[in-house]
Amino acid sequence: MAQVRLQNIRKQFLNVVAVDDVSLAIQEREFLTLVGPSGCGKTTTLRMIAGLEQLTSGEIYFDNVPVGHLPANQRDIAMVFQSYALYPHMSVAENIGFALKMMRVPKAEIKARTDRAAQMLGIAHLLDRKPKELSGGQRQRVALGRAIVRDAAAYLLDEPLSNLDAKLRVFMRAELKKLHDDLQKTFIYVTHDQAEAMTMSDRIAVMSDGRVQQCASPLEIYNHPANQFVAGFMGSPPMNFIDGELRRDNGTLDFVAEGVRQPLPARLTAAADGAPAGPVVFGIRPEDIALSPQPADGFHPARVFIEEPMGADVLVTLSLGQTLLKARADAEFSSTPQQPMYVKFAERKMHLFAAADGHALTSDER
Ligand code: ADP
Ligand code: MG
Repeated sequence: MAQVRLQNIRKQFLNVVAVDDVSLAIQEREFLTLVGPSGCGKTTTLRMIAGLEQLTSGEIYFDNVPVGHLPANQRDIAMVFQSYALYPHMSVAENIGFALKMMRVPKAEIKARTDRAAQMLGIAHLLDRKPKELSGGQRQRVALGRAIVRDAAAYLLDEPLSNLDAKLRVFMRAELKKLHDDLQKTFIYVTHDQAEAMTMSDRIAVMSDGRVQQCASPLEIYNHPANQFVAGFMGSPPMNFIDGELRRDNGTLDFVAEGVRQPLPARLTAAADGAPAGPVVFGIRPEDIALSPQPADGFHPARVFIEEPMGADVLVTLSLGQTLLKARADAEFSSTPQQPMYVKFAERKMHLFAAADGHALTSDER
């Protein structure tokens, strides 16, 4: 089995619709991440793929064969759970090899596969220890080891790094990506952390309210979000939004809000022309705002609210009319609160969304 295809899958628990009409095709050896806020249906989707949760409707295919009716143990899938628990009385080696022992794999082969998994995860020197003698990161690796020791067709990982501290999480991100490279298997990864999704995935499916909002490569999602939810969820600090409207004057189209009148580039003019009239939301990422202490062409007058030095750069919060914007400035940037500051939005990085439903106003031309 290589390809995993979800077709219009839906899961309803009594009166909660956890997963609402999700369709996705995950390719052989792909690293696909389901990302979204807590409660958006990520775990339920994964559990349906694993066969731990019945579908309310829809179908799941492994290589075009429907598997929705198959129990978990007939699906050739290994899963790392969000809340994993190691067997406390077993050694690391016994924990990793446990599933193989249950499957009556010969002892020598269990040892060989356990050693190989431990090698890959950098825990070969810990095989005789008990879980209580391990750090959080080491325990996490053992939990991963229990999954990868099985020669499954696809690996499902549900927030495997969420119990680790921030520093270790960043480190393990790279490790997991390397592990995927080494194993050459299909990975379906779940996280609420947009940075994990951005850094590790071949493709990201952004979920909200049980639905996939957009599924594309990390850069496509970042640069061309399909709607305001995706735009606001992916990126840290998130994209800035300004509520306003479009105004047409003698042939040009401007975005207008208090303190801003922004002429729009042709690509957005074309998109807005086809869209129904009504309030819109202008979007711009912190790194796409230029700052100048003096007035200049194309700049809008704003005022510094506060600055946060990050070392590598400075996050500057500014008030522009009614809106607070965050801009990312060079490390040398320095200002004082209330100081007048002028802001310019990078023309190629402007986004427009319909205020009514948040969909991006885009034209095919980019
Ligand atoms: P996520 O993993 O994205 O945080 P989940 O898939 O766990 O989200 O949950 C999605 C929604 O389904 C939530 O509203 C959650 O409360 C609900 N839900 C999940 N499992 C059950 C269950 N066994 N019974 C009832 N509701 C559930
Ligand atoms: Mg979950």
